[in-house]
Parts: sequence; structure tokens; C-alpha cells
Amino acid sequence: MQSYHTSKLHVMFLCLALSLLAPLQSVQALGSTNEEAVPRPPATQEAPEKPPLLEQQRAAKLAALAAIEAPLPAVPAEGVVVQTAERMPSSGNGLRIAIVILLLLLITVGIVLIFRIPRMSVPVEYPLMHETFAADDLSGRLKTEDTALRIVNPRFLELAVENRLITPAEGADMAERFCGNDFAALMQLITERPHFKELLGHLWGDSIGFTYVNLEMTAIQPEAVRQITREFAEINQIVPLYSFGGSLSIAAANPKDRELEERVVNKFNLVPSFVFAFPEEIADTIPIAYQSAENLNEIVTELKAEIKNIAVNPANIPTTQDLAKRANSHSIIEFVNGLILLAMNEMASDIHIEPDELSVRIRFRIDGILQEKFILEKSLVLALVSRLKLMAGCNIAERRLPQDGRIKFVLARRKIDIRFSTVPALYGEKVVLRLLGSTFLRGIPNITEMDFSVSILDSIKRVSKAPNGVFFITGPTGSGKTTTLYSILKYINTPNINIMTVEDPVEYRLPGINQVQVNTSIDLDFVRVLRSFLRQDPNVILIGEIRDIESARIASQAALTGHLVFATMHTNNALQAVNRMIDIGVEPFLVAPSLIALMAQRLVRRICPNCKEKYPAPKSVLDDNFEWDGVSEIYFFRGKGCSQCHGTGYLGRLAIHELFILNSATREKIAQNASILIVEEIALKSGFKPLRHDGLKKVLRGLTTIEEVDRVTYHDIE
Ligand SMILES: [Zn+2]
Repeated sequence: MQSYHTSKLHVMFLCLALSLLAPLQSVQALGSTNEEAVPRPPATQEAPEKPPLLEQQRAAKLAALAAIEAPLPAVPAEGVVVQTAERMPSSGNGLRIAIVILLLLLITVGIVLIFRIPRMSVPVEYPLMHETFAADDLSGRLKTEDTALRIVNPRFLELAVENRLITPAEGADMAERFCGNDFAALMQLITERPHFKELLGHLWGDSIGFTYVNLEMTAIQPEAVRQITREFAEINQIVPLYSFGGSLSIAAANPKDRELEERVVNKFNLVPSFVFAFPEEIADTIPIAYQSAENLNEIVTELKAEIKNIAVNPANIPTTQDLAKRANSHSIIEFVNGLILLAMNEMASDIHIEPDELSVRIRFRIDGILQEKFILEKSLVLALVSRLKLMAGCNIAERRLPQDGRIKFVLARRKIDIRFSTVPALYGEKVVLRLLGSTFLRGIPNITEMDFSVSILDSIKRVSKAPNGVFFITGPTGSGKTTTLYSILKYINTPNINIMTVEDPVEYRLPGINQVQVNTSIDLDFVRVLRSFLRQDPNVILIGEIRDIESARIASQAALTGHLVFATMHTNNALQAVNRMIDIGVEPFLVAPSLIALMAQRLVRRICPNCKEKYPAPKSVLDDNFEWDGVSEIYFFRGKGCSQCHGTGYLGRLAIHELFILNSATREKIAQNASILIVEEIALKSGFKPLRHDGLKKVLRGLTTIEEVDRVTYHDIE
């Protein structure tokens, strides 16, 4: 808001000055000069409609700021940035005002004229412009003012041109528009081309000689966070990431800022090694990085005291007013917000709150496995559940029936979606929070970052460029099907194809594609959306999940009429998808020609890279699973357990796959409605490898452990 205000003030000021100057004929040329200098931010008017409002607003702000701050080179000390607009004189007699205005005007004219003089060729660096971080307000929601960074770095636009992100003409135009503030040009490009954000980050990093780090995909070391105080991180807008070989990696929007480096060295006596990250990601990451279980435990102590002070009637049955009072108590708000931040910090997908006879247990699901985090006093459960119900828009008085809702959790710049559900259990209501935000947060991985085995990746690339056919990804809920599908969509997403998705819920946002969320309350179901899709000229359709005959049939027909269809299904293995299609009623003669590929996947935990060690593989395991000569030393890997993986030895997950690509022989059998065993036999002959095979390959690659592969492919062992 502030910058809009600033820009308005500035324009007002110039207009006023101009009207006063009108009688003076000697400065005729000034009008035109001024007109060019007055911000006419094209970003505000021409910004594309697609990017989220926030991005758009920020870009507009940056563009406006860039224009306003352009005259800065006239400021004497190199590298000084002005944050606020000049103050208008508040009172005084007319003559004095006129003189002051005239003086100010002359200064402005001077600045404008200097600005019109061609820029010096030596790039001047500007330090980061810091604004105070408005820490948690009572609701615990975090806000920051825009951090407008002004950095001259002409190499960036050159690199953008070299990498064909923009044409040379566009590059020249941007250089002119942003008056040499190349950081503003970077921000503008991100707004215009959000799906190139990652690449733009790398280009900027390359152009200033620092590594770019995508904070949404980076695990942060708790020890690193402990080395810099939160207050310092907030004021300076930096995030400590990890310490390595005696130096501490720190993400900053302006890693070249020498003064920042000095401040870090003087205050903490450590060797910083800076990397580049986008300012808004830094602002979002600070509260997550600094949330720890310890400070939540401190809040619990306060909480207990506070809850005791809230009277409950003698019968021990709290009234609705009691519940509301508890739900709005300061420490319960702090605790719940902290709990969600901690879950994000530990990259949990779900939070379980489970009342027992005497206590409340809080568990996080991390990498697919539930881990106990807190055991709280039973007296806190009502406050906790009521608070969450309020956030989710549910009825706090209703405690005997299941309820569902959604929570929008607000970070500095991003809203995180959380699905809330409660079920009345024996000892009270059990709550599960699903952090849909955690997938948004991590961003869509590139297909090359998915650790596909080479042969599978090659086949996926080939199949996903096919003009038509159905490509199924199967697996139970939570097996990462959506992530895989989106990494494939990201791979094929180019401006010349129309991709449409129908999902429930939409878990990822991919710019440049059309995503539709099913809404059964207004009868907007899969079938209805799919029918309308076919009139929207799509090339690629993604169907969140196929459950019924109608969507299955539409998928087959769409595939046969020239569309590439991606869909998921709940089956245990790839080939069962064929059976399922036929079982739910699609005719085999439709199924056979429409399918092109079937892939099953499971998630296994990834060995923590921080504490990974190798060990000689047990002979019996080798005998059972591998063809080996019986003599060579074969090594497996495992995690010893460290603070980064909370002692589990695992950090994050990866998928293992089986991919079956249909050929004419298998198609023929499917069309004849042959048994799946016969189809499988033909598939195996033509090189199809089951899930476990891929898992074992990843054990040898040191990505996961043999125990994990055993855990998820148990049924495959004969
Ligand atoms: Zn570890």
C-alpha cells in the first residue's frame, strides 16, 4: 500500500509543481522531460491476468518504485536508497510555501535532468532496503512490508536474452523501463512468466555470481537456525540454511550486500556463505524455520495456566461461551499457529490430535510415517479442538457429530490450505489436519528431479509426448500420484498446447494450464466438468481420479478422439487398471485401443543425505533378491540418524515405479477380455519389470533402504 501512496504523492507533487511553473517560459522543455519521468508503470496496466493478485500487486509496486526511485543516482553517497516520499510542507504562509515549492521543484528538475543523462557504465550496487518486519500480531499471522530491492546488474537481462527468455528488443525495452534497476526487471519477468521462476532465479544467481536456492524445496538445518537469532533474521530478511565445514550458508535477497555480511560477522562471529533467494520466499520461510518444538512446549506451560483461569461450571460441562473463550485465549492461538508452522518446518503432511483417557496425543505424519510430537494434558483438548473449529468455520457447540472444514493459514505472502476433519471418538473428538499447503509449498518438481530410473524416465518422456491415449498412474491414496502427474505436466507444458485438469482437490498450481476444482455442492462433478472440457479444445486432459463408468468412458472416448488423457486410479499394480476399467463397465474394445501406458507407484523414505553410511549387504538378502556372483562385496546404504532427520535416518521420500507400455500383442489380449495373468505374461516377456525391481535398483543407488522396499512391496514377495 505504501508504495501506491508514495507514487500518488509524487505525481501530485509534480503536477502541482508543473502548474506553478506554467508561467515561466524558460523551462518549456521541462514538460516533456517530466512527462517521461513521471511513472507510467506499464506493469500496472498490462500485467497479465493469470498471475496471482499478490504477485501482480508486487510487480506493480516494484515498477512504480523503480520509476520513482530512478533519480537516485543523484543522491551523493553511492548505494543509498530512499524509502519514503518527500514530506509536503504542512503549514506556513503562502509566500513561504511558494518558495519551498519552487526550491523543491528546482531540485526535482535537477534530479530529472541528471536522470536523463545517459547512465554511467559502471554498475553501482545498492544494498538491500530493509523495512521492519511486523512480527506476529495477536492472531499469529505474519506480515511484512514490501522489501523493494534495487540492484543494478545489466548482466541479468543479457543472460535472459542469451537464454531466449526474452528477445533482444524486449531486453532493451526492459532496461529502459526499469531505469537500470535490474532487480525490478527480474521481479517483473517472474510476474509475467511465473513458470520460469526457477530458471530466472538461476539466471539472476549466475549473473551476480551466487548460487540460487529455492527455499520452498530446501530442508533447513535446525543447528543452522540456532546460529542466528530470529530478530536478526527478521530485521535483515535472511534465512540461515545449513552449516558446513565451519561456514554458515545464509539465504539473502541481496547476497552481495557487504554491510549485511559485516553485520553477520560482527554479531555472530561466524563465516557466512551467502546464497540468493527471492525476498518473498525469505519472508515466508523465516516463521517456519524458527518454529521449534521447544518454543511450543513453553507455550504449553502458559496455556495450562491460562486454561485453569477460565471458569468451568461445577458440572464440568463447558458452555458454548466457555468454549469460545478458551478458543480465543491468547496462548491457544499462539499454540495452534505454532503447531501448524512446526508441521510445515518438519514437512509433515498431516497433524493428528487424539484425545486419550488421560491425555491428548499430537502426531505428525512425516514422509508417510506417523511420529509422536506432543503429549498434552487432557484439560487442553477442548480449547485446542474449539480453536481449530473456529478457524475451520465449524460449529464449536457440536461435539457429537463429525465435522469437516477448511482453514486458510496465512503466511507473510502465501495462504496455506488446510483440510480439517473431526470425528467423535470414545475419549473426545479426534482431529486430523491435512496440510494441502505442504505440497504447494514444495513446488512442482521437475521430471528430472523425481529420481526415476533411466529406462522409466525415457519411456515417460516418450509417452507423455504422444498425441492421444490414456496414461494411468495407479497406487493407494498418498502414494504421490499427483506429484508425479504434475511433474509430467510441467515437462509437457508449453504455450502451444491446451492442458485442462479436473481434480478434487486441486493440490498444485501450475501456471499456464486450466485447473478445475470439483464442487459437488453445486453439482459440478467430474463428469460435468469433463463434458464441458471436450468443448474447450483441449490437447491434454488430467482427470484427478477415475471412479465411475461415466468418467472412465469419457476418458476412453477422449483418448480415441485425439486427446492425451492422464488419470489416476486406486489399484495395487499397473495392470489392474485394465481390469478396473472393464469392471466398472467400459467395453474391452474401447479400453484396448485407448490405453497407452499404465504406471504404478509407491513412496519409500529417502535416506537422509546428512547421515548416510554404507554397509556390506547381508548375503541372504542378496541371494533372495539379486543375481550376483556370491563373492563380490555389495554395499547398501542407511541413515545413522542425526538432528536433520530427527534421528530417523530418513529425510523426504521418493517413488518407485512399474511402467507398462501397451503394445499390439497386449492390446489384442485386452480386447479379447483375456485374463490379466495372460496379459502380464506377455508384458513380462516384452521387458515389463514389477515395482520391486525398481525399488531394488534404488537400494543399490543408495536412495533408500532394503527395509523400505520390503515395507511397500510386501505383497510382491512370493
Ligand atoms: Zn540424518
